[in-house]
Amino acid sequence: MAHRPLHVVVAGGGPAAAESALALCEHAGARVRMTLVAPRPHEAIARAGALGNGPEPFRARQDHHRSTIRQTATRTGALVRSGRVAAVEHDVHGAGDEGHSEGGRVRLADGRRIAYDALVVAVGARPRPAYARALTFFGSAGTVAIGRLTAEVADGWTHALAFVVPPGTTWPVPLYELAIQVAGELRGRDVPVRLITPEPAPLASFDPDGSAAVAELLEDAGVTFTGSTVVATRADGSADLPDDRVVALPVLDGPNLPGLPSTADGFVPTERDGAVVGQDGVFAIGDATASPIKQLDAAVAGAGAAARAIALRAGAYVPPIPHVPLVRAHLLAGRGRSLLLTARA
Ligand SMILES: Cc1cc2nc3c(=O)[nH]c(=O)nc-3n(C[C@H](O)[C@H](O)[C@H](O)COP(=O)(O)OP(=O)(O)OC[C@H]3O[C@@H](n4cnc5c(N)ncnc54)[C@H](O)[C@@H]3O)c2cc1C
Repeated sequence: MAHRPLHVVVAGGGPAAAESALALCEHAGARVRMTLVAPRPHEAIARAGALGNGPEPFRARQDHHRSTIRQTATRTGALVRSGRVAAVEHDVHGAGDEGHSEGGRVRLADGRRIAYDALVVAVGARPRPAYARALTFFGSAGTVAIGRLTAEVADGWTHALAFVVPPGTTWPVPLYELAIQVAGELRGRDVPVRLITPEPAPLASFDPDGSAAVAELLEDAGVTFTGSTVVATRADGSADLPDDRVVALPVLDGPNLPGLPSTADGFVPTERDGAVVGQDGVFAIGDATASPIKQLDAAVAGAGAAARAIALRAGAYVPPIPHVPLVRAHLLAGRGRSLLLTARA
């Protein structure tokens, strides 16, 4: 007897969502049918700028991520629904606006409900400025930030620059790139540039050789490294920032999605295969999860693991693969220089 394909709803419009749809298609084929729910399915999958939007150092990362959720749907035979998941509702079998399923259903912001047998939550994190007084670098338009800072120096508004990595979960590589690039532009202008971070050494979570190479790049560019320094924000929003012009990364909050368990900062706790703790048939991947590594490789690995787990539920044979969690970062330092850094996740 032919089995009804498992209906998998994938919520999210970023790389984690796209990767999970592609991996599910590969592992489960006709044993699943998919609905992809994304706010803007026609837009490029990578967060604008985060993985490349604009000239060096950011453009180099863009090419793999030019496609859209719509194109992912075409490649995988999935349906697309434009919308934002507002809540996950459990124990409401067979109660979607678009048919019956065995799991639960998602409620979209506009009130539509889509039933699922399995759900993949890939809705990302919510970046917010860490410090009121700082220029927050969200990763978009790196050259705009470089141009703006060098113009401020040229106009005499800025006499010293501090690049600050805030405490908490973040992805610090882009701030290192920006500091090195800006310092390169300001070479010979007698403007001190420093990088202040809670990390004990430059990009300390990467392998020691990589960290040492980053230290060298900073030194060559004339960036003073101040490690093991936490610039925390007080309850009234103030922070002990230096007097310099401060450029900071955003801090990340979790999606806090109603119906799902959340950590104190709103992230979704998961098992190793992405299964949401205590929720049958619900998986979370990428930046939305409580994993401390918010980075593309980690998101892609999580998407693959969840897809394999769902394919097994759908009755597909999925060969086991060794779990080698590896995080890579390609730090682009301008003038054609780059560094490949690796770390074990
Ligand atoms: C400044 C910055 C620079 C970065 N640079 C790099 C880098 O160079 N290299 C690297 O590897 N990583 C980088 N990262 C990290 C990388 O961008 C993320 O790890 C990666 O984008 C995570 O993918 P994701 O799909 O989980 O989340 P996201 O990319 O955030 O995608 C989430 C998607 O879900 C959609 N969505 C949100 N809410 C809902 C909802 N309720 N329902 C449905 N859809 C929803 C969003 O519109 C978005 O399309 C950077 C991050 C930042 C902040």
